[in-house]
Amino acid sequence: MNQLFSQEEIYRYSRHLMIPEVGLEGQRKLKECSMLLVGAGGLGSPAAYYLAAAGVGHIGLVDDDVVDASNLQRQILHDTAHVGELKAESGKQKLLALNPYIEVDAITEFFNAGSAMEISKEYDIILDCTDNFATRYLINDLCVLTGKPEVYGAIYRFEGQVSVFDAKIGPCYRCLFPNVPPPELSPSCSDAGVFGILPGVVGTMMATEAIKLALGIGTPMIGQFMIYDGLEAAFHKVTFPKQPGCLVCGENPTIHTLTDSAASCADSSLFTLAPEDRITPEELQNKLQGDAPVTLLDVRAPVELQISSMPNAVNIPLEKLAERLDELDRQKEIVVICRSGRRSARGVSILKKAGFTSVKNLTGGINAWVSLYEPETFRY
Ligand SMILES: [Zn+2]
Repeated sequence: MNQLFSQEEIYRYSRHLMIPEVGLEGQRKLKECSMLLVGAGGLGSPAAYYLAAAGVGHIGLVDDDVVDASNLQRQILHDTAHVGELKAESGKQKLLALNPYIEVDAITEFFNAGSAMEISKEYDIILDCTDNFATRYLINDLCVLTGKPEVYGAIYRFEGQVSVFDAKIGPCYRCLFPNVPPPELSPSCSDAGVFGILPGVVGTMMATEAIKLALGIGTPMIGQFMIYDGLEAAFHKVTFPKQPGCLVCGENPTIHTLTDSAASCADSSLFTLAPEDRITPEELQNKLQGDAPVTLLDVRAPVELQISSMPNAVNIPLEKLAERLDELDRQKEIVVICRSGRRSARGVSILKKAGFTSVKNLTGGINAWVSLYEPETFRY
């Protein structure tokens, strides 16, 4: 034991060593444990910070994305000086600055069915810190097939979810939600807002569960699903059973290998509109200056109109669009607008399904239009 820790480490971890549930033996378990965080963003940031501080000896950070300034409102593993750098690299530097006595792997490879097994093979516990369903189901299936415990977390606006899946002794994610939802329902594809502190609450709970698993203390949240409501300051915990018919952990599973079960948002059929269903900001500007009657339909939330708006645009938030179609003139051409062109693509799809014939999606959204024609207006 003495060779495992230096005097500096003993002093660093002294507040752990004084807790009976941890002690020197527990600290050794943490040092010898390896954990893989898939995603170094909102959830991965606080989770990785606390795991590193606690002395988890080997941490892997998987992320192929780079730090964007709009991440910094919640992704506290990164800072202004690291904008534009790979998140895995930026995160590794931060973790080693906090605790140089651990090992950190920065993994910038894309985490998919082809790479997941190899990337995860040397880790004991996997943390799902992702923001999309495709990777979430992939991590679940990976953990079931390899017998590894998974710590799950998810966030949406003011609500968070936490659970632990260990299919050897309890249910898995597919026992709760058998099939992958369409990619456009995932927050990362739908341009959803995030209350910045929410991933902090959820990510630290995930780190708590991961450390409990490594130490073998307390009651891990296996078969339990925690829902945190930030606005009401309420935690609701429900239990859920293992499903004998589960596709991956049930009695007769049909999933035996990893597959990329859902397309990424960029590949979603909703976002691959036909060329005739798109309009560029320049084409729209020409149209607005001409005589042809055109309806601008802004499908953003009303609160977003405080940042930027287009003159004479009709605002029907995307969630309400299907029930408010009769407010739109079917004879006129309709150009659908949102922040970036993602939600409006979904809007185009809703209108076309409802029989509207002349509908176009503004490519790049209002951000692209104002940068050309109203440079004083904010982009977000
Ligand atoms: Zn299952």
